[in-house]
Amino acid sequence: MTKESLLFCSSEIYPFAKTGGLADVAHSLPRALQDSYEIKVVMPLYSSVDRKKYAIKSLKKNFNISMNDIDYEVELFGCNYEGVEYIFIYSNLLCDREFLYGTPTSGYSDNALRFAIFCRAIIELLRVNTYTILHLNDWQTGLVPLLLQEENKINTKTLFTIHNLAYQGLYSYETLKEIGIDSKYFTIDILEFYGQMNFIKAAIAYSDAITTVSQSYADEILTVPFGCGLDGFLRYHKNKLTGIINGIDSEHFTPCKDKLLEYPFSNLTQKKLNKKSYLKEKNLKGITKPLFIFIGRFTEQKGVDLLIDSLEQIASNDCNIAILGDGEEKYQEKIIEIVNRYDNIHFEFKYNEVLSHQMYASADFLLMPSLFEPCGLNQMIAMNYGAIPIVHKVGGLKDTVHDYNLFDKDSTKGYGILFEEVSSNGLIDSFNEAMKLYGTKKEYNKIVKHNMLCDFSWKNSAKLYDKLYKQL
Ligand code: ADP
Repeated sequence: MTKESLLFCSSEIYPFAKTGGLADVAHSLPRALQDSYEIKVVMPLYSSVDRKKYAIKSLKKNFNISMNDIDYEVELFGCNYEGVEYIFIYSNLLCDREFLYGTPTSGYSDNALRFAIFCRAIIELLRVNTYTILHLNDWQTGLVPLLLQEENKINTKTLFTIHNLAYQGLYSYETLKEIGIDSKYFTIDILEFYGQMNFIKAAIAYSDAITTVSQSYADEILTVPFGCGLDGFLRYHKNKLTGIINGIDSEHFTPCKDKLLEYPFSNLTQKKLNKKSYLKEKNLKGITKPLFIFIGRFTEQKGVDLLIDSLEQIASNDCNIAILGDGEEKYQEKIIEIVNRYDNIHFEFKYNEVLSHQMYASADFLLMPSLFEPCGLNQMIAMNYGAIPIVHKVGGLKDTVHDYNLFDKDSTKGYGILFEEVSSNGLIDSFNEAMKLYGTKKEYNKIVKHNMLCDFSWKNSAKLYDKLYKQL
């Protein structure tokens, strides 16, 4: 049987370029769908992508994208990495930057233009090859469904996934001309958003189907507190919206196969070797003390303020804390100020994949006090790596972490500690519960062992995407 063809587009894909969970999803979902679809995966060829390491070669295809009477040259590159076909879009303006989207303090001012080039290059790919399904991700690809309105020869069905509604791609009305979009689209039911142009609105308006990355987040974004101003618009398009929980890549995030670990493990005795080595390396003392970790982007969303407000109280207990993150520098300064006064906190302000794996493998608990969380991957990784997650009961965290007080050994669910009150008190109460749980070794081990065997892979969710593609 011939397979249907699928073009999967994302602004970041692990291992080529990653700032967060989108890259993990764009890496692992196509792999999970490979047996059923003829897939090509597309992303920009940022200058940070290691062309040599991944044997990325020019496809010897060049074309120009013309917007506002200016031509932007585009060259296509490609590679096959671990059995998946990748197409890379190179254009100087889009790709030759130090960061993907902006410096730690602000986004690049010409991001609208950069990602309009990306979207128009995707259209060019659709002109040359026929794809049954086009799967787009986040605002950076948001203009594609709108541009398709102008293409009567392209007959592809579009699915748009919202990974985080807080990032919408908002630009001034004047930008419209710069990116060559007709002002007829600048209406309240398409692009216009409080006087600005909104990339994600265009995708919501024109995609055939919309998904987001958990059922709870799908429900939440229809409400004012989580809708980021688009709740009404989404309610209008509600019939197109489905929540499908993300998975984690079982090759990359299975502790016994993890190539980034010094001691790959499948039981708690082996896990301890990682903890011992990590504590020694980071000069933290006390293998018997629980190790709490936080890994994530330093933004308000991740609950970094709650973490900072409760850090001293947490650190006054008999435990170790390790924090890894990058992003807003104001958080870095505040944490360093506290870290200087406590020798049981270790902090690194950077993005480092190897270190993150080492931390999951060493930790006893993961702190994840996100104010909102579309899905979240850390909590699933942590559970598989034998660290109990402490999470705010919201979005995908609510869907993947279940209250350990209701533990059922026959269930396939993962368990952790949840708090409802978004305050440092909420987090501290849960931390205290965690300390108590750690004290009852038998109870603690029972939950950890159960979580390590839980299946958070893409197996089930890939089936749901497959079903949705078929419906389209
Ligand atoms: P996000 O909102 O950032 O997409 P997710 O929970 O969906 O959050 O995914 C975060 C991913 O990025 C996880 O794989 C996590 O381990 C990783 N990560 C986040 N920050 C860092 C960091 N500073 N160093 C290494 N990995 C990180």
